[in-house]
Amino acid sequence: MNILVLNCGSSSVKFQIISTDASRAAKNQDECLAKGLVERIGGLALISFEAKGRAPLREDAPIRDHREAIKRIVAWLESPQSAIKGISSLSDIHAVGHRVVHGGEKFKTAILVDKDVEEGIADCMELAPLHNPANLRGIRAAQEILGASTAQVAVFDTAFHSSIPETSYLYPIPYHFYRRLKIRRYGFHGISHQYIASRYQALAGVSSQESNLISLHLGNGSSVCAVKEGKSFDTSMGFTPLEGLVMGTRSGDIDASIVEYISHKEGMSIAEIISMLNRESGLLGISGITSDMRELLDEERESQDRRAHLAIDIFCLRARRYIGAYLAEMGGADAVVFTGGIGENSPQIRERICAGLGPLGLTLDSRKNLGGLPEKERLISSPDSRIKAYVIAANEELLIAREVLRLTNSTLDVQKM
Ligand code: ADP
Repeated sequence: MNILVLNCGSSSVKFQIISTDASRAAKNQDECLAKGLVERIGGLALISFEAKGRAPLREDAPIRDHREAIKRIVAWLESPQSAIKGISSLSDIHAVGHRVVHGGEKFKTAILVDKDVEEGIADCMELAPLHNPANLRGIRAAQEILGASTAQVAVFDTAFHSSIPETSYLYPIPYHFYRRLKIRRYGFHGISHQYIASRYQALAGVSSQESNLISLHLGNGSSVCAVKEGKSFDTSMGFTPLEGLVMGTRSGDIDASIVEYISHKEGMSIAEIISMLNRESGLLGISGITSDMRELLDEERESQDRRAHLAIDIFCLRARRYIGAYLAEMGGADAVVFTGGIGENSPQIRERICAGLGPLGLTLDSRKNLGGLPEKERLISSPDSRIKAYVIAANEELLIAREVLRLTNSTLDVQKM
């Protein structure tokens, strides 16, 4: 079946068309037929679409809202211009999978969208005011454009973390804030960590129950997830994505008292300080130059600029600290997996994060770590390392497509019975 995967951000829509079925998914042979992005929705949008074996399309066009963006995507998908194998009309798009950022405590797994699910997503808007409204707009637009007979599935970025025990998800603040306001750690990047856990299983040849790993998603946004017996056991992001690792522009963990102190000293509002912690901190904040790891790693820059060097060191130290903490929390792990733009592409960062972890049972093989080949998945630990280390390319779209496949296949089965 052909599955349209949509990821609606506040002013963008990303998509992929994935062709798959149960047997291809089992053999990891699903196929991405086309992908693209509409950015700067609400003004003169930037459109970039590409189909397998075709020259990419890039153009500017005024796009008012998410509905118009999705209309544009679908029109291109079915047009002869894109020439996508197996897609010549709307009816060749069999189902849609939506990435939905926040499922609150309500959604513990992916789900077929109906009116109740739409309401549930709307109920979580306060927890993700930038993302959930855009996700819901995407769902409604796709329903309208593709018709009621095309299944829509919501896949939540928080759902994988619904297995985290209370001892890890509760903040040690007065309990009534959890009861009344649902303030707790939810975790994000769940779709990515779930995909990593599933690929680890396949690569290591273990069952879900035997999967004990630490997944490090290191990109602009970064998080770590402790996966115990195939389930999320703890993760570094919390009530919002601000908590945890040092990120491109987010601070990660800080002492909350800093907020009051800055407000008092600088006359900044809480909203301004939170925005500073989200947008001007992390690698950008320390280096004062850029949030982009590749630019910081630039040999000249790192060797000549003390703060660029410091930003990278703080980033690596925090990641190493979480690995240590999760090893202690889980009572050990069998593997550490690196993913995301930085995790997949930077041998140097992987090396610097793992430095000194030998006594804990993790040593990288420097040749395998350097790799050089654009392999999507590989083992990078030394043969005698008790904890294995892998690089696995992130693929959230594929996890979403497989969730759609799982849910739509089971409805078909139920209908047949
Ligand atoms: P997002 O979280 O926006 O999806 P990505 O996962 O694409 O981000 O990661 C972006 C980050 O990956 C940037 O900091 C970028 O510099 C970094 N990156 C990409 N390639 C490399 C590389 N070869 N070496 C180091 N960092 C890299």
